[in-house]
Amino acid sequence: MMKKYDVAVIGGGVVGSAVARELSRFQLSICVLERELDVCNGTSGHNTGLLHSGILYKKGLMRTQCSMEGNAEFDQVAKELDVPFRRCGKLIVGFSEEERLRLEALLENGVRNGVEGLRMIDRDTLKAMEPNASGNFALYVPTAGILCPFTYTIALAENAAQNGVQYLFDHEVLDISRNPEGEFILKTSQKPVCARWVINCAGLYAYKISAMLGFAAYIPNRVKGQYEILDKKTGKFLSMPVYPTPNEVGEFDVHVTPTIDGNVLVGPTIENIQQNISYDVTQDMIKILSESGEKMFAYVKRDYFIRNYAGVFPTVTDPATGKDTDFVIEASKEIPHAVNLVGINSPGLTSALPIARRVVKLVLEQESLQENVNFNPVRKGITRFAEQSVQEQNRLIQSDPDYGEIFCRCECVTKAEIKQAVHNILGVRTVSGIKYRTRATMGRCQGGYCETRIAAILQDEADMRKEDILLNKNGAYLFTGKVK
Ligand SMILES: Cc1cc2nc3c(=O)[nH]c(=O)nc-3n(C[C@H](O)[C@H](O)[C@H](O)COP(=O)(O)OP(=O)(O)OC[C@H]3O[C@@H](n4cnc5c(N)ncnc54)[C@H](O)[C@@H]3O)c2cc1C
Repeated sequence: MMKKYDVAVIGGGVVGSAVARELSRFQLSICVLERELDVCNGTSGHNTGLLHSGILYKKGLMRTQCSMEGNAEFDQVAKELDVPFRRCGKLIVGFSEEERLRLEALLENGVRNGVEGLRMIDRDTLKAMEPNASGNFALYVPTAGILCPFTYTIALAENAAQNGVQYLFDHEVLDISRNPEGEFILKTSQKPVCARWVINCAGLYAYKISAMLGFAAYIPNRVKGQYEILDKKTGKFLSMPVYPTPNEVGEFDVHVTPTIDGNVLVGPTIENIQQNISYDVTQDMIKILSESGEKMFAYVKRDYFIRNYAGVFPTVTDPATGKDTDFVIEASKEIPHAVNLVGINSPGLTSALPIARRVVKLVLEQESLQENVNFNPVRKGITRFAEQSVQEQNRLIQSDPDYGEIFCRCECVTKAEIKQAVHNILGVRTVSGIKYRTRATMGRCQGGYCETRIAAILQDEADMRKEDILLNKNGAYLFTGKVK
């Protein structure tokens, strides 16, 4: 018999997971249909991890409202969901008088939006705050922050799952129709699923789901950004993100951002790629990252590059206006029981929970819902051995000897943490899934030492055959036969 749910959320990125979590506050059976094998394989795992302040966009836009709300509440959210977060502020630096005028206009825009604490600072103050950053002056944005986008997405998804949401990975939605009762039948790459409600959170592919549901045929218009990740050695030399002044159309050239775990990100570059999606990082762009990055931060040196990645912005053009959209969060009487989210571009990470609350509001306009009195907003992550005091580390080893065995030397991740990650509530069993939950393989050696040990734990703890172990997606086998 076909599985039946009250709500099917399509897409398990940060937005779909926030939506699933917020809907689990009500008595609803909810599934998240995700085509990949984990929650952060889309744009939610390919971004900068900045908590935006809300200064960039015009007052009244949905992205301005949502990012302001998301920013204001994030200390509380991070505490509730056990997500490492630092409200470190941000500097947007300038060199010329023309750039000063642009920064002053940006400051005025921020003040109009209600962003607090903005101020222009001179060169001496800039140097005192961030000695390794360049610039003759800067706009200081104290409310910006940094977070780990993987941990945040996983935390939202795990909290949703704790509150009864079912994640169905490897379920790509291929087609949507309605049965005679008006319920949705979702044809997927696995078995079909029936749901009374559909919420489209499919990120880069949301335009396809939008058309399947009967909403507008939005046109994808993609922009790609490439990054370099710098070794943790550089992290201590940068305390907050440093951006250049945006150009005439408001785009930022390459910037540098410290990560919450102590690396530094250089990027993104900006490339218009129309309809194609590619996560390749090219030699040309690495050159641009080196040259432009070094203008911002003295430690952007090739010696410190440990890895690269790319992200693609889910920009769409509205066919009715021919213009790129704001965040689209829409429902329609003609398409009952569907909420369509399209163009959830930057700052979608910052805005995920405010977007989710707007989805809930649209659902409540069509149906009254009973509160789930058992809803628990609190989620606890895996305790990071590396971040504990020596006393606490000793206590952990006493309680479980697996804390005494370091699996990932670069990031100091223990066997106990890897084992906890293997038993995650979402049932993710890929090597990258362990990486995103523990940081194992994210260090300088990029898994040279610990990747095969993680594979061994997957065999022992999850009873997997080594031939079935995947790096991150179907077909990405780690072993093709016997190795030793
Ligand atoms: C380079 C870059 C930098 C950014 N930096 C920041 C930042 O610093 N701060 C910030 O706030 N925002 C930032 N953003 C924006 C932010 O990352 C996105 O807005 C956000 O991650 C969007 O989340 P999502 O859940 O909508 O999309 P996604 O994470 O892409 O999730 C959509 C999910 O849907 C799944 N899916 C797609 N089609 C189907 C289907 N047919 N069936 C089933 N599943 C499907 C996908 O596999 C995917 O997992 C950045 C974006 C980019 C590209």
